[in-house]
Amino acid sequence: MEKKDVKTVLDILNSIYPNAQPELNYNSPYELLVAVILSAQCTDKRVNKVTNELFKEYNTPFKMVELAQEKLEKIIFSCGFYHNKAKHILSASQSIIQNFGGKVPGDLEQLRSLSGVGRKTANVVYSVAFGKNAIAVDTHVFRVANRIGLAVAKDVLKTEMQLMENIPEKRWSKSHHLLIYHGRNICKAKPLCGVCPIKEYCNYYKNFSK
Ligand code: SF4
Repeated sequence: MEKKDVKTVLDILNSIYPNAQPELNYNSPYELLVAVILSAQCTDKRVNKVTNELFKEYNTPFKMVELAQEKLEKIIFSCGFYHNKAKHILSASQSIIQNFGGKVPGDLEQLRSLSGVGRKTANVVYSVAFGKNAIAVDTHVFRVANRIGLAVAKDVLKTEMQLMENIPEKRWSKSHHLLIYHGRNICKAKPLCGVCPIKEYCNYYKNFSK
């Protein structure tokens, strides 16, 4: 996709989703980290409900590791995949205590080094909690970016690399939220191309929807 079209697509998305931002509730980088781990294949609304209770007592890595895994699993049960999510939360918390004195690091490589923290989660925390430029690729971003043609890749890592190449760095973080909003509202699994304001720039529309 040509640079001018990338800019136009992002400008249009920005005009229809001017307030695109994370919908997870958090009061610290640690709370955001836990919320993002919980949000895998779960709605932000559900995660906020669970963390509203969880963070009343367990809002630091030190407090979190006091919880037995089974107890944590019970608290986060409704977020789904509770066994793995509890394991990841506890192992990330241990890692933060052992390697970073109990504080979530603001460095991308250090975030990615945390046990239990995947690349997407690290990118979201880096971008949202620390205000740095990063593009986290979740299922919405992957689907929408590859349909539009902002990336042409078969896996999330290549998609992230191509998005970083094609989108100006200062727009990386906002673009992540714009693509999520577009994926939730119009470019759903079954896309609503007829009402899509960027269809004339979209590869998928040009190739399949006419
Ligand atoms: S035209 Fe269709 S496939 Fe392309 S971004 Fe819009 S909804 Fe998605």
